[in-house]
Amino acid sequence: MTTEENLLGQVSTSWSPENLQTLDGMLAGNPIIVITAHRSPDGDAVGSALGLWHLLLASGANAEVVLPDRFASFLDWMPGTDSICFHEEDSRRAESKVAEADVLFCLDFNGPNRAGNLAAAITSSKARLVMIDHHREPDDFAELAISDPTCGSTCELVCDWALASGRWSSMSLDAAKCLYTGLVTDTGSFRFPSVSAHTHAVVAALLHSGLNHAEVHESTFDDQSLSRVQLHGFALSERLKIWDEAGIGVIALDLEDLNRFHYVSGDTEGLVNRILGIRGVEMAIFMRESDPGKVKMSLRSKGNLDVQALASQYFDGGGHTNAAGGVLLGMSMADAQAKVDEALNEWIHS
Ligand code: 5GP
Ligand code: MN
Repeated sequence: MTTEENLLGQVSTSWSPENLQTLDGMLAGNPIIVITAHRSPDGDAVGSALGLWHLLLASGANAEVVLPDRFASFLDWMPGTDSICFHEEDSRRAESKVAEADVLFCLDFNGPNRAGNLAAAITSSKARLVMIDHHREPDDFAELAISDPTCGSTCELVCDWALASGRWSSMSLDAAKCLYTGLVTDTGSFRFPSVSAHTHAVVAALLHSGLNHAEVHESTFDDQSLSRVQLHGFALSERLKIWDEAGIGVIALDLEDLNRFHYVSGDTEGLVNRILGIRGVEMAIFMRESDPGKVKMSLRSKGNLDVQALASQYFDGGGHTNAAGGVLLGMSMADAQAKVDEALNEWIHS
């Protein structure tokens, strides 16, 4: 029995025979395929979109990736990024591609509003929608919804599709690199509780396909600018507040802080996990002033502590049990910090 065949019995149950058959039907007859993902795409969003794109191209499909906006430069190395159409750079082209698609894959998001400036184009598209995602409480917007919140990454679900649909032989090195990137980044380098034996088995199968995982880690994590590393140092030493009794750590960076370290998109990625690495901290919160009057929130937690619930209750956001995000609008950083203090006090005492 090959490694791939061995893995077949363990793929996500959301890839039921009926769902596999439905997708096969949608892909029959050489349809125009567009693949999209959530706004501010992260490693899992870009990795799953490009990974699926490489897989589909290998079987001769007519497919393109259209994203709402650019991702952080530490993902620029991924094979295929040059072919992506970004709405923020060419909105007309992006919208017409989405409008003219026959099949539209929505990856790593659970509702059109998470697609930012592409949301309207997605909901009004004549395309048949396929959602592949692992966020909780999905909206009912896709004809075929592959939703598995127990799964650590959308990339794992795409690998599962390749396995279950008999397309693993189309897994090129480029596809493997992209999918591995999402597997690594969305699991905090395979540390979150959502990582399963199957996750590692999928990685083993990618390695069997020739993937050089060390190269992916190096390109993704060991190519940081000096100012980014120094921003992290500043944030941890000057902007971290610890709520000792509650086991909560909060970092807040305003525009002045960010400008001082020549901030570019992606520079604060991973900072929230550093807070969670502190002994006694069970919940980490990172706040970043992204524009005047707009504060982006990133939340992480250990064990059963549910930051998705906190994010959706107080910060107009969502995500997963151990990793969530949200936003505070119409307030200065000082107001946002007061709002977070209030929310945490209420949360702790509820
Ligand atoms: P991050 O902190 O890395 O930006 O996001 C962590 C998780 O929370 C991701 O799974 C992401 O999809 C989700 N998330 C981040 N920002 C938002 C938001 O504004 N709304 C919702 N619903 N989810 C978010
Ligand atoms: Mn994801």
